[in-house]
Amino acid sequence: MSDQNDDPIVPVTPRRMPKAPVEEIGGRKLKPATLMMGHGYDPVLSEGSLKPPIFLTSTFAFENAAAGKRHFEGITGKRPGGADGLVYSRFNGPNQEILEDRLSIWDEAEDALVFSSGMSAIATILLANVNQGDVVVHSGPLYAATETLINKILGRFGVTFIDFPAGASPAEVSTLLEQAKQQAAENGGKVAIIYLESPANPTNALVDIEGVADARNQVFGDDAAPPIAIDNTFLGPLWQQPLKHGADIVIYSLTKYVGGHSDLVAGGVLGSKAHMDPIRAIRNTIGTICDPNTAWMLMRSLETLELRMTRAGENAEKVCAFLRDHPKVEGLGYLGFISDASQQDIYDRHCSGAGSTFSVFIKGGEAEAFRFLDSLKIAKLAVSLGGTETLASLPAAMTHLSVPDDRRAALGITDNLVRISIGVEDPDDLIADFEQALETV
Ligand SMILES: *Cc1c(COP(=O)(O)O)cnc(C)c1O
Repeated sequence: MSDQNDDPIVPVTPRRMPKAPVEEIGGRKLKPATLMMGHGYDPVLSEGSLKPPIFLTSTFAFENAAAGKRHFEGITGKRPGGADGLVYSRFNGPNQEILEDRLSIWDEAEDALVFSSGMSAIATILLANVNQGDVVVHSGPLYAATETLINKILGRFGVTFIDFPAGASPAEVSTLLEQAKQQAAENGGKVAIIYLESPANPTNALVDIEGVADARNQVFGDDAAPPIAIDNTFLGPLWQQPLKHGADIVIYSLTKYVGGHSDLVAGGVLGSKAHMDPIRAIRNTIGTICDPNTAWMLMRSLETLELRMTRAGENAEKVCAFLRDHPKVEGLGYLGFISDASQQDIYDRHCSGAGSTFSVFIKGGEAEAFRFLDSLKIAKLAVSLGGTETLASLPAAMTHLSVPDDRRAALGITDNLVRISIGVEDPDDLIADFEQALETV
């Protein structure tokens, strides 16, 4: 539209220019909760629409042929620095890019990538880092599908693994890393990646990320040191930020707390640009990016992330205080009430909150646990976690049914272990529900 207009009926609209992003005021860095409302998006570029439109397009028009060539030089790695514009929706789109900018703020990561699920994120990381003959070192237990991917599927391609229990000391991890180094040399490969999950599900055992990083540095020195990746789904991004404790790659099932409403499936990966670039290249090749609609929903979720997680954490603390002393409860696996000194030490160094997912051991066995679950009136019976609603499940009979009996026993996943993910309901209503359900046991 022209700035000059002689028609008296049509008002003159001066051309609007994008504003510079505001990340601090008066030398004070803005907090993530503030930045979630606008960071990375300027309404001026989208007809003034306050919220980002959902860009439903499979491809993006080049301004000219030379620009098209320049974009592809970036995508294919012929020119360093990546693509400097949007090309094709399997690579990226405006909604996903804004989401990635916002997601990286919480963990203060240099770069972020979003995926169609937590598992597609994890598979893409492994494809980017692992070759034939390599060894994957991982903490245990892992999310069941992750364990299948590392221990069974990668095995078909000549990749082996060595695992250690989540609570292992740095000295034990050192010994295992030496062993892994030797195994890799025998197989003609390298130790490709150290893969952690903390807290472990459903036991809430914590991994000493700093201890693992020290062990890694000591065993491998500066060159050929494998990256440390960690699945931070249970406590992140609010209550644990592993990049600050020596991890290189942070992984989220965004399906859980970040999505937070049990209405989408997505994944995220964060870290330095150097660690993200090879993962992005694999994502570009195989198309594990999330779709624009899901990206838009995740941006809406990020606006209330701190509110939701804070409330869920406060609710869990109240519910656990009630459950702790109940005569029908044998024990609790809740990070707010740790009894082991070394686990407490890890918690104090790494975590700023106990989360809202925990296990409660009902006195008795499966029959008593089933009676408790079937009597719940507010809490829903479902797997997954981190949503606005409270969910309960019995891992031994559901998520961990396929785990062999002896391994399940070693992990402490007993028939009376009920896993609970507390939502944002009224805490006294939740306590009343648990109280009446326990009475039926
Ligand atoms: C749910 C979950 C995953 C898998 O994520 P999806 O989004 O379901 O693919 C991975 N790790 C942990 C810890 C999870 O809870």
